[in-house]
Amino acid sequence: MTSEDVIRLAVFNWLEEQTRFDDVLSWSTLLNGFYFQGQKISLVGQQGIWKPRVFRSIPISIRTSAHGRYSDGITEDGLLHYKYRGNDPHHPDNRGLRDAMEQRVPLVYLHALMPGKYLAAWPVFVIGEERRSLTFIVALDDKQHVIPAQSDGDEAEYRRRYITASFRVRIHQRSFRVRVLEAYRTQCAFCRLRHAELLDAAHIIPDSDPKGEPVVSNGLALCKIHHAAFDRHFIGVTPDYRIVVREDLLAESDGPILRHGIQELHNSKLILPKHSIERPDRERLAIRFEQFKRAV
Ligand SMILES: [Zn+2]
Repeated sequence: MTSEDVIRLAVFNWLEEQTRFDDVLSWSTLLNGFYFQGQKISLVGQQGIWKPRVFRSIPISIRTSAHGRYSDGITEDGLLHYKYRGNDPHHPDNRGLRDAMEQRVPLVYLHALMPGKYLAAWPVFVIGEERRSLTFIVALDDKQHVIPAQSDGDEAEYRRRYITASFRVRIHQRSFRVRVLEAYRTQCAFCRLRHAELLDAAHIIPDSDPKGEPVVSNGLALCKIHHAAFDRHFIGVTPDYRIVVREDLLAESDGPILRHGIQELHNSKLILPKHSIERPDRERLAIRFEQFKRAV
């Protein structure tokens, strides 16, 4: 193993540690990086293709910006298409990625969910390039394959395509979460609790339903207990944003969580996003409220 390989493994371990509870990383976490034998290893820089100074030519990470929000760059074939830097295939950054391809060096892929928030995947491999469209073809792999086998056969290709396609699903889920939490200013729409660690992005119409699109207007930021209570129809929301607690629960008598956490919400107003376009869609709330009434 070269010293660069050792640093790469340290980067992967550091990412593992950082994403133990939440796999969305902030720009500042990635920029500050960590120290390895006295040297600062940053995971991002000005350019999308990033090579820390300690590395000779091969980058450590490739990053997409949040501009192409409607295209995640992953195609139906389960491969990621990553644009060259500029138009010159021989720009040092592009050469660096070509070297990574030839030497089969694992990299980190950072996908911007919104400005400043990234979902990380590693190891990723550059497996080809299309000079005509100025793109590299990139595939994700699982963590047992940080060091690629001597020859990557069909099996490796299927596995990588599958993992890359699965990452696309994760991008969409996490992007729904960060956009909903942002719209609600990181607070529970029922009780105002303001800790992202305890908040979820709940769907008004479930994502298994064709109407359950992952748009903010089909979402509610809810704390864990209120998310479960909403999902199980303990609590409903009327189309005019009023919170309704199920009758039998109102009649129950128990400790402070039931009293303050649930019963006192009855007839209170939903906390709403500032922008009207991000507010819950009344039509979806109406459908959901009908289900709630049937559950009573
Ligand atoms: Zn809550």
